[in-house]
Order: sequence, then C-alpha cells, then structure tokens
Amino acid sequence: MNKLVITLAPTGNVPTKALNPNTPITNQEIARDVKACYDLGISVAHLHVRDEQGHPTSRRDLYKDLVDQIDALKIPIIKQLSTGARGGENTFENRGQMLDLNCEMASLSTGSSNFPNSVNHNAPELIEALALKMLQNNIKPEIEVFDLSMIKNAQHLFKKGILKGPMHFNLVMNVPGSIPGTPRNLMFLIESLPPQATFTVSGIGHSQIQMLTLSILMGGHVRTGLEDILLMDQKLTTNVELVKQVIKIAEALKRPIATPDEAREILGL
Ligand code: MG
Repeated sequence: MNKLVITLAPTGNVPTKALNPNTPITNQEIARDVKACYDLGISVAHLHVRDEQGHPTSRRDLYKDLVDQIDALKIPIIKQLSTGARGGENTFENRGQMLDLNCEMASLSTGSSNFPNSVNHNAPELIEALALKMLQNNIKPEIEVFDLSMIKNAQHLFKKGILKGPMHFNLVMNVPGSIPGTPRNLMFLIESLPPQATFTVSGIGHSQIQMLTLSILMGGHVRTGLEDILLMDQKLTTNVELVKQVIKIAEALKRPIATPDEAREILGL
C-alpha cells in the first residue's frame, strides 16, 4: 500500500494553555514540537501563529519568524501555512499576507461553514485571490473540506484554471457545526473526490481515532495534533503522544510511514 503521510497540526487557533498547558503557543514552542514530532515520523507541519497576547493572527512577521526558526532546525519537513478564517479580518490582504514566504503548502478553505462560535468565512473572491497567489508562488493548496460543497467548489475552481491538479484535500471531520465524523460521512466525502486527488483526514475531538484509522485503511493520509484534539482517554495529551498513537495504528494496519521526500512525491510538490 502507498506510504502514509502524517501531518502535525500542533497549535491551531482555538487551543490555549488554559485548555491544555502542553499547547505550543510561542514560535519557539511550536518549532520544538515540530522537531520532536519530525523525529517520530511526521512529514508535514500545518502551522498557525499567535500574537504577543496568544491570540490567533495572520501576521506575516510572525509567520516569517516561525518559518525561519523551523528552517534553522535543518530538517526536511514540509511547511504548510494556514490561511484560515480565525486569523483576523477576512480580507485577502490579511489572510494571504504570508503566502510569499518559504513554504511548499498552505491551507485553502473553498467554502464557508460554521465554527462553534464564529463563521468560517470564505467569500468566493477571497478564495480565488488566495488560490491565485498560491499558484503564482508555487505553493500547493491543501483544500480544507468541512462539507461536500467545498469539494464541488474546488472542482469548479479547477475548471477555471485557478487550482491545478492533482488536488490535495483535507477532510475535516466533526467540527461542531460542520459534517459529523461518522464512517458513512467520511466514505461519502472520499467517494466524492476527483479521481486523481490525494486526501488527508482530520478527526476533531472524540472522532479522531475512528476517522484516522479509516483513512489509513482507505489509502488516505492523516493529520493529528492539539489543533484537533486536546484530550486522550480523558487526559490532557501532547503533540508527541498524538503522533505516537497514529504511528501505533499505522503499524498495526501494516501501513508504512512516508519520509518528507516521499511525501513530496505523493503530494506532487
Ligand atoms: Mg488549521
């Protein structure tokens, strides 16, 4: 079977030290967790940054500092920067400001949905502007799918030439307000992908083990990290523990783990 690409999402926009003291918030803490998880076998780091108060932001200077800190580690990890909707104002100037930095991938939501306490706000003109800047700067989008409509809209953008194939999707299961994380729903999304697409799966909260296991079985890839899940067996977990858990499942299912260079080939970077 094809090798498994493991993505680490160490921080996200929601976790805080109060919710889980193991959450890396400063760039130094994030780089430390990326290195520890790289040593275990991750090949992609999905990165968010926080401002001096610990709030989510899209600030280019902070992303640049994080990219520089990870580059200084001299590890061949694939850096994927978030352009998500919780990083401040929903303008292209704000959300796309980090897309000229040294990274191979960036996240791109191709539709709107609800988060528990806010709107995952992605207007058509914003999506197209972000996708075009990624295309111009040779950054591969990871298309964030919170519902079927995001897959359909990505196919529409592909036809317009704004997205290049083969597209790579992240099927984000079980965000409250979006598609629930059930095996049936995940199968439905996988079957709805364009034929050449690659996909990874994120399982939010208690859906994580079931959703990631199903993806490993189906030849997909997986994302884990404190962005997606804060507790394991009712106890506060860490990024390292979450990656170790994924590796244990992959080993049990006889799915070999991809190195970053193998991941580049699989993802068409
Ligand atoms: Mg994210």
